[in-house]
Amino acid sequence: MRFRLALPMLALLAGLGTTLAAPAVADPGPVTAEDMSAADACYTWGRTLSQGASGDDVRQLQIRVAGYPGYGGVLAIDGQFGAGTKAAVTRFQQAYGLGADGIAGPATFTKIYELQDNDCTPVNFSYDELNNCNSDWSGGNVSAATAKANALVSMWKLQAMRHAMGDKGIVVNGGFRSVACNNAVGGATGSRHLYGDAVDLGAGSQGFCGLAKQARNHGFSEILGPGYPGHNDHTHVAHRSGQFWSAPTCGI
Ligand SMILES: [Zn+2]
Repeated sequence: MRFRLALPMLALLAGLGTTLAAPAVADPGPVTAEDMSAADACYTWGRTLSQGASGDDVRQLQIRVAGYPGYGGVLAIDGQFGAGTKAAVTRFQQAYGLGADGIAGPATFTKIYELQDNDCTPVNFSYDELNNCNSDWSGGNVSAATAKANALVSMWKLQAMRHAMGDKGIVVNGGFRSVACNNAVGGATGSRHLYGDAVDLGAGSQGFCGLAKQARNHGFSEILGPGYPGHNDHTHVAHRSGQFWSAPTCGI
């Protein structure tokens, strides 16, 4: 919940006292220079970002467009705006009908503000549904903060996937597990659920194979679905080093 008041925003707030209380959520209207400094309760970008830029604002952007790496790709969340980030921003812009130039400016940020909740999760997913193990994300194979950060990236990937599949709800059965929770459900040693980035997707209109196939386009390097042992009743998506996809029933 970052909330830094930049000087231009203070000037804006002085003139428009209600701006802070009403971040743009519906029709953002024409994009103006002031939009760049409009307050967002989660995170507010203060400059246009293009290839060659670096910094935490780039990293924040990368988290939001992590679901747009292209088929089989994984976008690095490294704060360096390279060719991969440009391509991901371009795909994000195309997905939402924005001018697709790979440069993140006011229109792109306004769309992201619409898509994010005050806790920085995308509007259609929440920390709660990605953790039905405990309340504080502790006890996994990484720190609680890392597990939660990993879950956030997975949620943005799912938001991209959801949009690509017609904005129909995606059922989430669970995500993060502590070692104790993982043992209790008979999870594999080293399961990505212990890292916070794994999400088990439940039965919905998309079908398990539909989800598994679509996930290949949205940055999930680990996809397990029907035909893989223990995965006939859900589709598992996660991040890992290297790619491992297996859902034989789906032709994956
Ligand atoms: Zn799983």
